[in-house]
Amino acid sequence: MKLDEPHHPRPDDADARKAVKPVICYPPETLPAPDLAALTALRKSATKSAAISVLPRDAACIDVPAGCFFRIVSVQGAQVGDLNLWNTADLSEKFYSGKTRALHGTHLSTGDRMWSSFPTLRPMATITDDTLDWYGFDDFGGSVHDVIGTRCDPYTGQLLSGQPYHYCCHSNLTRALAAHCDLPLTVAESHVHDVLNVFMCTGFTRDTGQYFMKASPVRPGDYLEFFAEIDLTVGLSACPGGDCSSEHTSDSASCYPLLIEVYDPGETARAAHKPPAPNAYDRSHATR
Ligand SMILES: [Zn+2]
Repeated sequence: MKLDEPHHPRPDDADARKAVKPVICYPPETLPAPDLAALTALRKSATKSAAISVLPRDAACIDVPAGCFFRIVSVQGAQVGDLNLWNTADLSEKFYSGKTRALHGTHLSTGDRMWSSFPTLRPMATITDDTLDWYGFDDFGGSVHDVIGTRCDPYTGQLLSGQPYHYCCHSNLTRALAAHCDLPLTVAESHVHDVLNVFMCTGFTRDTGQYFMKASPVRPGDYLEFFAEIDLTVGLSACPGGDCSSEHTSDSASCYPLLIEVYDPGETARAAHKPPAPNAYDRSHATR
């Protein structure tokens, strides 16, 4: 938020300074590109091996082996999902939404990767299919599947409304991870992180740069599909905001379940997949 009445005067060369053209911080052509053609061919040989339903205002976790695909499916009605990813063998390696945003932009679609936290910083998953890819950006600057928002949580809700709300995505994911990995609630909570907002339609207002949401364009049958680059524990919350057309962090929105399906291309194909190596930086931080 910027002041309506700035405290400081414009310098003489203000227009010239503001007219400087932006440059892309991380040109995507410098990233190792996924072989989408090979993944598409591999997907054709994969068959459904597991599925889990995520109940409204709740979350669920499922393990997806490296080399498998998983799909988040809209069922029954428009519903937004908050997605967390962890390395099954080491929960401290988790999805890094901020760096993913810096690398791929505010909203993800086919061909984008979900990168892990430091120090590994490697692709955890690659998006291989998106039935909402037709949406692009609307006239408000909105799009779907953002890595802008954090997740609805009880702390911000308490701050803004003075009331506790327990079925927000942060708490849903905490309960689900604790149950899935048999962890104390406080330990599970420490692993819950900023999300990929699956199916959510968001952007920044052009005039004030404020984060906005609008009714998700998702319809039953739509899906977002991923290839698991490493062994993943996938956590998904069916947000209490429903289609996020009006509010979240309450019980007032209509909410629907979501479905996670796992597709396995077979043991031979999985064995042939080489998970990306952890980041090559030596971690010396100029001390050697
Ligand atoms: Zn939420």
